[in-house]
Amino acid sequence: MTRTPRTALTIAGSDSGGGAGIQADLRTFFANGVHGLVALTAVTVQNSLGVRGFTEVPADVVAAQITAVAADMGVDAAKTGMLATAEIIRAVAKTLDEVGADFPLVVDPVAASMTGHALLREDALEAIRTELFPRATLITPNLDEVRLLTGIEVTDTVSQRAAAEALLRFGSRWVLVKGGHMTGTSDCVDLLSDGREVIELSGPRYVTENTHGGGDTLASAITASLAKGASVPDAVAAGKKFIERCVAEAYPLGAGVGPVSPFWILNADSNS
Ligand code: PLP
Repeated sequence: MTRTPRTALTIAGSDSGGGAGIQADLRTFFANGVHGLVALTAVTVQNSLGVRGFTEVPADVVAAQITAVAADMGVDAAKTGMLATAEIIRAVAKTLDEVGADFPLVVDPVAASMTGHALLREDALEAIRTELFPRATLITPNLDEVRLLTGIEVTDTVSQRAAAEALLRFGSRWVLVKGGHMTGTSDCVDLLSDGREVIELSGPRYVTENTHGGGDTLASAITASLAKGASVPDAVAAGKKFIERCVAEAYPLGAGVGPVSPFWILNADSNS
């Protein structure tokens, strides 16, 4: 008999360049052995040089996508990426309540692309903080998002801990303060905390220009592990291993920033 895989839902935007957004999420879910479900929030127009613009999906259509899949197929874990507007964020929060979401929720508070283009309309980050953080199992801000949310400039592991404490006050169960954008360190140190446990995850820093989609890929790899029943620390450790490999094998595509690569999974030993 065919085994039905676990399911993971991504509530996020489309990247026409295929490197980030739902495209990254779905292939990461696949690579990690879970069936991907989608609630599309926005259609971006972008390539390796940046985001030219986006159109949001009506909030009621975002909500309807979540309701449709949750009721029929079941959701084992979910993640949010680009949410575009405060109206969509409020609709997502309300719908998660309506479907009685008792599955793990990873909130990646995406505010802008690494090329500096806004992926949220004004003031919407505040809505993510108030509407989604209290519902989140884990939030995964990068250092720019940490600064926007808390005013804290993370420069070392001491300020990274202070940022984690400040972020936990917004109500998520766990926070992962990603250190990938910290300069002056040879390793890439991420800090995971639930206020009692503080776990430093250190990994090699790969030198590459091509890191597009890295944040989405990490959050969706973590979500896939949560869908399969892993604890948050185990899911984050597995996600970090997955993204390290994707960054190590990132490739150039276009004249700007190329994507992190999931292709290694095709050649990976299925027992490893
Ligand atoms: N486009 C979409 C649809 C995204 O969701 C994201 C990140 O979440 C980006 C672009 C930006 O990706 P990056 O900052 O890795 O270039």
